[in-house]
Amino acid sequence: MKVNQIGEFSLIESIKKKIFAKDRQVLVNIGDDAAVIKSSPNRLLVFTTDTLVEKVHFDLRYFTFEEVGWKAMTANLSDIAAMGGLPKYALVTIGLPKSIESEEVLSLYRGMNKIARRYDCKIIGGDTTLSPRNLFVTIALLGEVEPGLFVERTEAQLGDLICVTGNLGESKAGLEYLKKYGQGDHLLLRKHLQPYPRIQQARILVRNLKITSMIDISDGLSSELFHLTWENGLGAAVYEDKLPLSPSCRKLASILNLSPLSLALSSGEEYELLFTIGKKELKKIDSIKRKVNLSIIGEVVDQSKGIRLVQRSGKTKELKKTGFVHF
Ligand code: ADP
Ligand code: MG
Repeated sequence: MKVNQIGEFSLIESIKKKIFAKDRQVLVNIGDDAAVIKSSPNRLLVFTTDTLVEKVHFDLRYFTFEEVGWKAMTANLSDIAAMGGLPKYALVTIGLPKSIESEEVLSLYRGMNKIARRYDCKIIGGDTTLSPRNLFVTIALLGEVEPGLFVERTEAQLGDLICVTGNLGESKAGLEYLKKYGQGDHLLLRKHLQPYPRIQQARILVRNLKITSMIDISDGLSSELFHLTWENGLGAAVYEDKLPLSPSCRKLASILNLSPLSLALSSGEEYELLFTIGKKELKKIDSIKRKVNLSIIGEVVDQSKGIRLVQRSGKTKELKKTGFVHF
């Protein structure tokens, strides 16, 4: 069967079935934002990889090489953030078309380094290969997390509150603007071209709250809700009026004639964190909100109730697993 017939998620499931190997030292195996390995009694490593491919994840008509490098590193840093960890070391593989200039490759590294160094993360090796057509960047990132602080995708509980950092919809709003107008200096274009991973925010969250599950929004809110709830035998109720949409996102949506709500539900590459907490944590939320921009957007419900959006009118709507999939 061709991969576009089986679909990305089912393909990964079949790969998982074939390769899954239990290992006492692997605390989080295939299926989460990153793997967690117990390398010694007091030391946990967090290990992830992510790739950006030209024409699939970025277009050089509106991305500079520096921005491509920055974003490739952010995608990986964000997976470490989603586990509650701190990034440490990166290996970078680049696939280069023959026509690329060496200065352009160095710009790519300037972007990677700028965002990595902000979090004290260092590039310590990699690989260079010819790519017949398009540029690609693959990063493998190693991080650390204290035992007891890492957070998986799988432990949400019935009745938990569903929360999200930052604003939603902005990356896709920026992308749609770029696709239509090619360039511009709108604030939200930066959110698409040069996003920040939520490392510090994740560290504050895992240190101060009992986070039951967490994922980064790389494929879109709807899709990530399915990962945190449906795939663990649970459902979700999300309130439309609680979704954090900034005035600038609403404005851009109206310029582009798009629905802000559908942007909020389907925008991938937000690199915001979606997480669940027990209701008991509610009393700490106000003090956390002083340090981390976060919103409570819904509740974990019984799976029989599905994944629902509660609209302003009070009516509910079933959410589809929309969002970015490769095939
Ligand atoms: P994310 O969106 O967080 O980058 P993905 O959807 O790419 O996560 O991957 C989901 C899970 O499947 C991760 O645990 C990842 O390590 C694993 N995975 C994805 N592709 C492969 C592959 N080709 N081989 C083994 N594991 C994979
Ligand atoms: Mg992820």
